[in-house]
Amino acid sequence: MHAHIRPQPGILEIALYQGGSSKIAGRDDVVKLSSNENPFGPGDLARQAFARSGHDLHRYPSTDHAGLRAALGAQFGLDVGRIICGAGSDEIISFLCQSYAGPGDEVLYSQHGFLMYRISALAAGATPVVAPETDRTTDVDALLAAVTKRTKLVFIANPNNPTGTMIPLSEVTRLAKKLPKQALLVLDGAYAEYAEDYDGGAALVDARENVVMTRTFSKLYGLGGLRVGWGYGPQHVMDVLNRVRGPFNLSTVQLDVAEAALGDVIHVTRSLTENARMRDWLTDRLNALGVATDPSHANFVLARFRSAEQAGACNAALLADGLIVRQVGSYGLPEALRITIGDESACRRVAHVIGAFMEQQG
Ligand SMILES: *Cc1c(COP(=O)(O)O)cnc(C)c1O
Repeated sequence: MHAHIRPQPGILEIALYQGGSSKIAGRDDVVKLSSNENPFGPGDLARQAFARSGHDLHRYPSTDHAGLRAALGAQFGLDVGRIICGAGSDEIISFLCQSYAGPGDEVLYSQHGFLMYRISALAAGATPVVAPETDRTTDVDALLAAVTKRTKLVFIANPNNPTGTMIPLSEVTRLAKKLPKQALLVLDGAYAEYAEDYDGGAALVDARENVVMTRTFSKLYGLGGLRVGWGYGPQHVMDVLNRVRGPFNLSTVQLDVAEAALGDVIHVTRSLTENARMRDWLTDRLNALGVATDPSHANFVLARFRSAEQAGACNAALLADGLIVRQVGSYGLPEALRITIGDESACRRVAHVIGAFMEQQG
């Protein structure tokens, strides 16, 4: 730290985010299962839109994102005027913290919640507050017990990362209703599409003045590298976030490719079907091998081992076979590994290596 030139309070408490690694020295058959990416990549329509978008790179992009917002509104049945797009849902999370939480304010989230909530809260100068979970699942009563007069934002991911668990809409609604007047509930729906019969909380947003939903193109749509996410909320919140949002926060390429991806029904359907099929298959295999899991509603499973040591040893065995999964000690789960659902061959390789590993463990 410099002796005189100092950042705002809180900034130096931010630990640098470690992305899921993607390389193992000396191997060319590596499978990356550490960042919950779609194993099939982007769909054909997104790839074609990407190729076309090169022609207009001299033009500034749209500032109101009208095309993408209209497509999102039509796809999900939402009020187009209350949609905001950002560079990943990370940027929406950051707008929310910047706009609603500052020094002296608290940003509440649950024990195994997404690391960006803490990072964005600290970046805004606010105080992160953590509520315990019950059996690796969001606990509404614990969140409500942690609320104070200073709570300005409450984040829950539903389904949650890295646990894959989710709570029913009735519980989310109870939380929204019981929060104090000054607090805004943010429903992070990065994995909402993977959950059956779940709208990400969109209807709850429509029914209330204190709920915002965030969504992303990074997971199901296979566009993590493109950086496009969006939010849906009450008008009063959108009016605030749009003041903070830079006019050119998304490029023409991002806007056009995301819009094309949204309409790629074939790719979306195939991705969902294969994910559900291989998630069930891998979960059954892990359980048969004596590795515990919680029911996952997302595109990954959290495999729980007997100890942090055993999880570490299994991670090493997977790495030795070219398989990169995610250690989740930074999420308070050192005894677990988060494994993204890959394609069938990747899932079979994972099951094979963990099977051999568990056999050695006796
Ligand atoms: C992956 C993920 C996101 C999405 O981040 P983007 O910035 O949209 O790529 C948001 N929340 C959670 C819980 C995630 O796991």
